[in-house]
Amino acid sequence: MLGQQTIITMKPQTLTAKPTLQILKYGDPILRKKVEDVSDFTNLPYLVEQMFNTMHEGSGIGLAANQIGYSLNLVVLDTSNLEGEEDCKPYILINTEIIGSNGSSIMEEGCLSVPDIRAEIERPETIIIKFQDLEQNFYEESFTGLLSRVIQHELDHLNGKFFVDYLSPAKKILIKKRLLEISKNGSPSTGIIL
Ligand SMILES: [Zn+2]
Repeated sequence: MLGQQTIITMKPQTLTAKPTLQILKYGDPILRKKVEDVSDFTNLPYLVEQMFNTMHEGSGIGLAANQIGYSLNLVVLDTSNLEGEEDCKPYILINTEIIGSNGSSIMEEGCLSVPDIRAEIERPETIIIKFQDLEQNFYEESFTGLLSRVIQHELDHLNGKFFVDYLSPAKKILIKKRLLEISKNGSPSTGIIL
């Protein structure tokens, strides 16, 4: 009987739980490896949904695919939970490449893979990127302000780079122990804002 079979084969917790994935932390070698371009788009919609769920669960505003163990040129962004950003739509960026940049700005950054460490980082203010969507359409778009910042941070991930790599040697010394703790335990014993 179908009803009985359903009871035997389905686990209620897997039906109700959001499909989220574990976020890899600083120290995981996958995060230092440059990703591959996406060529097979078939299973991307499900992966993208998992990425959005995982990012939202961690209260993040951007997530790169290699942060959840998929070494692909794929990034999701959603800043709409932030004050003043309610109108911003979520973005799915595939096979992204920066083709231009302009100006510079300093903004505080944090990272789901480097928990409890925040630091002011200088980056270009505006960027022009080339990317694809889930339907493999190509776009060229210019971003400035917060979105530009989040995209640059996430594209760094795809190249195996962390925001803390930009810190001065003196500031790197201040977080060295914390980065080791993240590598070992997933989080540092104390947070810091630089
Ligand atoms: Zn990050």
